[in-house]
Amino acid sequence: MGERLMNAAVLNKPLDIEVRKVPVPVPKDDEALVKVRCIGICGSDVHYYEHGRIGRFVVEAPIILGHELAGEVVEVGAKVKNVAVGDRVAVEPGVTCGTCAYCKSGRYNLCPDVVFLATPPVDGAWAEYVAIRSDFLFKLPDGMSFEQGALLEPLSVGIHAMKRGGVTPADRVLVTGLGPIGLLAAQAARLFGVTEIYGTDVVAFRRELALQMGVTAAIDPSRENVAGRLLELTGGEGVDVVIETSGNARAIRETVHMVKRGGRIVQVGLSAEGEVPIDMNRVADFELNVYGVFRYANTYPAAIQALSRSNMDLEKVITHKFALKDIREAVETARTQKDKSIKIMIYPHEVS
Ligand SMILES: [Zn+2]
Ligand SMILES: [Zn+2]
Repeated sequence: MGERLMNAAVLNKPLDIEVRKVPVPVPKDDEALVKVRCIGICGSDVHYYEHGRIGRFVVEAPIILGHELAGEVVEVGAKVKNVAVGDRVAVEPGVTCGTCAYCKSGRYNLCPDVVFLATPPVDGAWAEYVAIRSDFLFKLPDGMSFEQGALLEPLSVGIHAMKRGGVTPADRVLVTGLGPIGLLAAQAARLFGVTEIYGTDVVAFRRELALQMGVTAAIDPSRENVAGRLLELTGGEGVDVVIETSGNARAIRETVHMVKRGGRIVQVGLSAEGEVPIDMNRVADFELNVYGVFRYANTYPAAIQALSRSNMDLEKVITHKFALKDIREAVETARTQKDKSIKIMIYPHEVS
């Protein structure tokens, strides 16, 4: 019997991506084969496409990108019990060892042996099928779309940020940067019961979308003094938590001036400039807590449960949809039209 082939988008080298035939993965005993129905383009995918590296991760051989996905189980290995053929599932894209101290303590996002889709040299899922260990598959309730299933991945970053920052309904929250992660972090804040959520972004379209998605007020940091405006908006109280998602060096430096005394800063964005100086005297004087966020852990079940009974419209972040064959146009749109695009979805089978 010959090897089965499928279409996959392969990045040969920076700016050189093509759809070609590759073997359909064969699931191991503890894996399931998932027919990829909807998969997002992430900022990290665009970065690998453009620059061929992110920090210590370098594209040294052709790679399939993509890690934000949902699909349908079409085959299961002999030992798989939690999902069955025909199940609609979201895929959590980082498979961890399960036995190290980080995994056992629940902080499995810090597992040194994690195998994360689309992080070189591991292939991702801009392809018709992907095989993945079945304990990283989560069944979608009937009413939940594949699009929402795919958005659980970037939403998870937002949920993890809320958990790291100890966000409660009593908090006023500021989200700096209203790209896909910032917009979904604001939605995560809503899921955590926060009713006063502020956002900043220099792009008008993004501020507008944030307002449509329930943000209390959106500020343009290039035209307004954010700290001053926040005091006005909160009746002089200030915000309890800043969720920094922009990675912009100035925004990162400003976090210590935007948060109130005793507040918390959650750093999600990564600065393209590397090291960013920050006023540590202010951190001491204000008794600020600063938390880092690396991906997420234990977010999918809670997110699915919370979303299945909410009327939250996550799909508003989807601005473009492309068939897999048009991958080049899709990634170029993400790369060059940051002022008009938020989340771009790829459909390896039918575009819905
Ligand atoms: Zn992502
Ligand atoms: Zn581990």
